[in-house]
Amino acid sequence: MDLGLLLGLFAIFVYVFVKNVITTQYKVYLLFHVFMMLWPIGQIGVHSTDRPHLQIIFITLSFVGFTMLGFGWLLFAKFLVNGAYYRPGRNVVLLTLAPSLLLPAAMIWNPDNLFVAPVGGGYAERVYGPVFWAVIVQLVGYFLYAIGILRKAYRSGDARSGGPRVGNALIGLVILVTLPTLDLVVNVALDPWLPVVPGMTTLSILLSDIYFLFSLQKHRSFDLVKVAKQDVIDTLSVGIVVLDEHDVVIEMNRNVNRSLNIARGKRLDMEALLAAHSLAGGVDEAFLNGFRAHAGDRIHTEISIGAGNGPRQYMAMHAARVRAGASLRGRVITLQDITELKSLVMKSQEHNHSLQERNRALIYMQDELFQANRKLEQMAITDSLTGCFNRRFMMQQLEHEVLTNLRYRIPFAVFLFDIDLFKLVNDTYGHVVGDEVIRRTAEAVRGTLRRTDILARYGGEEFAVYLPHTNKEQAEMLAQRVREVVESNEIPTGRGRAPISVTISMGVHVVEEQTHLQVDDVKTYLKELFSKIDTALYRAKDNGRNRVVNH
Ligand code: GH3
Ligand code: MG
Ligand code: MG
Repeated sequence: MDLGLLLGLFAIFVYVFVKNVITTQYKVYLLFHVFMMLWPIGQIGVHSTDRPHLQIIFITLSFVGFTMLGFGWLLFAKFLVNGAYYRPGRNVVLLTLAPSLLLPAAMIWNPDNLFVAPVGGGYAERVYGPVFWAVIVQLVGYFLYAIGILRKAYRSGDARSGGPRVGNALIGLVILVTLPTLDLVVNVALDPWLPVVPGMTTLSILLSDIYFLFSLQKHRSFDLVKVAKQDVIDTLSVGIVVLDEHDVVIEMNRNVNRSLNIARGKRLDMEALLAAHSLAGGVDEAFLNGFRAHAGDRIHTEISIGAGNGPRQYMAMHAARVRAGASLRGRVITLQDITELKSLVMKSQEHNHSLQERNRALIYMQDELFQANRKLEQMAITDSLTGCFNRRFMMQQLEHEVLTNLRYRIPFAVFLFDIDLFKLVNDTYGHVVGDEVIRRTAEAVRGTLRRTDILARYGGEEFAVYLPHTNKEQAEMLAQRVREVVESNEIPTGRGRAPISVTISMGVHVVEEQTHLQVDDVKTYLKELFSKIDTALYRAKDNGRNRVVNH
């Protein structure tokens, strides 16, 4: 009977090994399975020999395997409840493993037959001691604890443990416990009164194993798809964190940066995370509020990882709700590395900034150039002593004006005046006063002219005036006014000396008649015009100065 069951267990072992991808969860299961097989092997061994020292070895082997079942089941239950990627802590393993290691040691040692004593010189018939009962108590303890874990997970209907799977494991565990208990009752406790029923424990191991494997296969808890899914999630370039409704991390992939301090089973403190990793602008309140209020289907912020001036990693963090019907089931957070994009953006911003700087400098330079140009232009047409236009500008203007005036029969006048006996001023008061006299005379004349008239310094102390839209009468009147203004203009000559005034002699020419002119003739026309005015001026001098002569 035990041999048949051993073969059955071995067949299951081979089936599982060949059929499935070996994951950690599977390794745990296989280890568990090996311990299960130790029982029938030991049982067969006991009945296959008459030599007591071999029999005790087989019995010990059976019970060592049996003792390990409790630990195996507990570990397996934890894997079922916590998911395929559960990693128990070292302390948990040591604590739960300790009794399973201590008791086999006591069994192997068997001091004073405390574990098992032979009856009639052999172990085919035997009496069990306190160590045996300790094993039973230990196993019952483990199974009760495992049942407790599974029941709790089953009741809470936790998504990650997969309700039906846990339910099946529970039933398997009950089967596993029931028959050995019967075995214990019938073959050990009631041994003196009842016949020995062989292979009950082995049968229970096989039954629960089959049931258990069937349920695992049915719910595809180990299958390739799941492994592949996890692989796919792990190979994604984004970090994924799945939170339950209390923000506890139930799943995450390997791409979640370690320095974010996110761990499976731990509550994710979003505020602390943002406080530690938000960009220079401070905590993104909008995101935090959205996260707290479970608002919006998808909210987004950016964080950075890395301390001081070292290399920084920038991440885009998205949070999305997972809903089942109306109730919130949890959240999925994705973390995407945007360092490269960010550095590109920052580089282009820097670039932009320096371009703007350069642009500003260029605009400033342009402005300076413009101002300098204006000054130059001004200088090119202005006489520096008097601030009047210079002769060159006057002649240029006249070239345009005269043509227009003649074509449209617009009357205009030109004055030419010269300060009388100016040499005397220079000789008497010096050149500085002479300059002052020239300047003040120009200033006085400018005050009497209209805005459209042009006053220009024609020579040393000679000035020309162009008066557009002016007929003979107006010209004569204006000429007299200019002469009078100069005559009455008192010019200071320095401390302790009386101011002086000068007079001017003026030649005037007014053009009222229509003359047709080609552009080429303008210069000649102007030359002749000025020579006529010059003649008039000389006549004014000859006639006694301080007068106006009309040509
Ligand atoms: P008039 O014209 O009445 O015949 O006598 P004038 O003494 O004014 O004779 P003229 O016009 O020939 O002399 C001009 C003098 O003006 C000669 C020159 O020394 C002087 N002069 C010319 N330009 C300037 C100048 O810019 N500053 C000063 N201080 N003197 C100048
Ligand atoms: Mg002169
Ligand atoms: Mg003169």
